Amino acid sequence: MTSLGEALKKGERLLEDLSSTPRLDAELLLCHVLGRPRSYLYAYLEQQFDGATQQAFLALIERRRCKEPVAYILGTCEFWGLELEVSPAVLIPRPETEHLVEAAIAVLPHAGRLLDLGTGSGAIALAIAKSRPDAQVNALDSSQSALAIARNNRDRLQLNHVDMRLGDWNTGISGSYDVIVANPPYVEEIADEWSSGSLQWEPREALAAGCDGLAAIRKLIPAARGALAPQGYLLIEHGASQAAAVRAILAAENFHAIETIRDLAGLERITLGLVNQ
Ligand code: GLN
Repeated sequence: MTSLGEALKKGERLLEDLSSTPRLDAELLLCHVLGRPRSYLYAYLEQQFDGATQQAFLALIERRRCKEPVAYILGTCEFWGLELEVSPAVLIPRPETEHLVEAAIAVLPHAGRLLDLGTGSGAIALAIAKSRPDAQVNALDSSQSALAIARNNRDRLQLNHVDMRLGDWNTGISGSYDVIVANPPYVEEIADEWSSGSLQWEPREALAAGCDGLAAIRKLIPAARGALAPQGYLLIEHGASQAAAVRAILAAENFHAIETIRDLAGLERITLGLVNQ
């Protein structure tokens, strides 16, 4: 028999060199095995637990040691205060993407029409729909399995008014939207992240975009231009070194009031542009 506290220490030690958050990872995995919230751990650190449960915990620690993201092991992650189901069919929503949600909400008119391109788990569309019940929110994804997860998330969160469909910006988008948002793939095919293993678990089609990481953004901008209403905004998340290139593509497509927003780390991560007429 071992206590929860001892098991946590052991899990933390096993993850020390592999994760930047070994204690948190161990706590989340232990809670998952126990089916309890994190507050339980602190109240019952002395409690003993049986061998089978311990084995189950160590099996999850082993998965984490192979760099499988905690969100995939748990099958859920938190974004904008919402609990979302995730699987390797979808990108794990990143905290930085909350800036995109915030910026989209700031420019969305009352009862405005919004489209989320490449919705994945549905994170952006659902976050906006949650905060802005007045909005008409649509979302597209080209992956059937991603769409199934996005729809499950919508149904579980009871954001029934969000319309989620199979669709691809490469084949054009129809409609007349006040705001279009996208967190498209923007990682360079040869980026270091691939070899470090941090991205290997996530769907490559949601991450990789040609040798400069701009392939998807180059297709998306003209497609979105055609589906925006006068005074409509396009907001795109991109890599920290891509802002100038994204601004140039927006300008070439006749967008106005082009502006880049920095994240909390001061990095240029979101660029927006307005359609004048
Ligand atoms: N921000 C992600 C990463 O660098 C990439 C997300 C994306 O390509 N849309 O891990």
